[in-house]
Amino acid sequence: MNVDEIIDYCENLYNDLDLNYVKDWKAAHRSKAIGYLPVYVPREIIHAYGMLPVGIMGGGDKLEIIRGDAYFQSYICHLPRSVIELGVSGKLDCLDGVLFPAICDVVRNLSGMWKMEFGDKYVKYLDFPQNFADAGRDFYLREMRQMSEDFEELSGRKVTTEDLNRSIRLYNENRRTIQDLYDLRSEKPHLALTFEVYLLMRAGNILEVTEHTKLLKEYLALVVDCDRPKLDNIRVIVTGAFCEQPPLSLVRALENSGCYIVDDDWILGNRYQTCDIPESDEPLRAIVDSYLSNTVSTASRYDDSEDKGMHLADMVRSRDAEGVVFAAPSFCDPALLERPMLQNVLSHENIPYTAFKYAENTGQIQVIKEQTGTFADSIKLWGAE
Ligand code: SF4
Repeated sequence: MNVDEIIDYCENLYNDLDLNYVKDWKAAHRSKAIGYLPVYVPREIIHAYGMLPVGIMGGGDKLEIIRGDAYFQSYICHLPRSVIELGVSGKLDCLDGVLFPAICDVVRNLSGMWKMEFGDKYVKYLDFPQNFADAGRDFYLREMRQMSEDFEELSGRKVTTEDLNRSIRLYNENRRTIQDLYDLRSEKPHLALTFEVYLLMRAGNILEVTEHTKLLKEYLALVVDCDRPKLDNIRVIVTGAFCEQPPLSLVRALENSGCYIVDDDWILGNRYQTCDIPESDEPLRAIVDSYLSNTVSTASRYDDSEDKGMHLADMVRSRDAEGVVFAAPSFCDPALLERPMLQNVLSHENIPYTAFKYAENTGQIQVIKEQTGTFADSIKLWGAE
């Protein structure tokens, strides 16, 4: 495949709300598929049991909400409505279970509704520790062991230490390749375009991990030889979009508004670990330790550090960015509650920023494009004071 064909393939996966890849994969492997909501679940464990982890990030702007609105009050984000709509319209029937990671009350409530609506399927609310000392470690390890027992029953197979270590190895390689992709985009954002990087990342929610890694490597090898013009864009970091996703048209609009996006936090679960998870005699413990010690900083993960928010300023410096775009889903408590703290840090560090809210099905693209375009112009004209 050439670059355009790779991106077309990813865009087709992105648009396919019926999850035909998942159905084909299940038929070919005579196995099961486990869905998961954003942001993070330990996909290595699902994979070790021979099942396919499938990331669900809502219906975007491709899905008409007919019944989903009836399940939720109006003043919450859009994602749970479209996930319910996908469920009740049968589009997620190919999933044999769904994991609901503890990220906010909305996802907690959604997991309860899922249990009531789809009681014949496996449903787990995956709680994460808030205490990162020994008590949290023991708690999370118990959760992982419990989930493994559930998967044993669901998949009808036992896993060995080697099975788990193999899956850890494959996901480590995938994360390293994603890191290469992000590094390339930061270095040459005119070559690795953001909407392409975005679609490649979304493909990682669906594709089996080795297929995804192969696709990423193909793209990385090919895109460096593309003849693409270098534009007079500013370099920005987008943050706050770790759960409900902006529509693809908005991702394209940001890039076309004069901003090279040199880092972001969308589809964060695919790059949640900051370094390899070690292979060991106790792989579940290694997964737990990695969650507690080597994970990205984000509003969706407990953080009691004194310098909360400094990770963003550090990222601006390490990516040589000129500003930050806060892009959060409307009514997203984790992102919007954290935003003022992050803005304070940026103000203190003299880093310019702009902020907007979106919904996954927003049509207000032009207004946002004008806002980020003006932000880009102001930095070009006056820079950071
Ligand atoms: S978008 Fe925000 S509020 Fe909505 S489910 Fe995700 S984290 Fe929760």
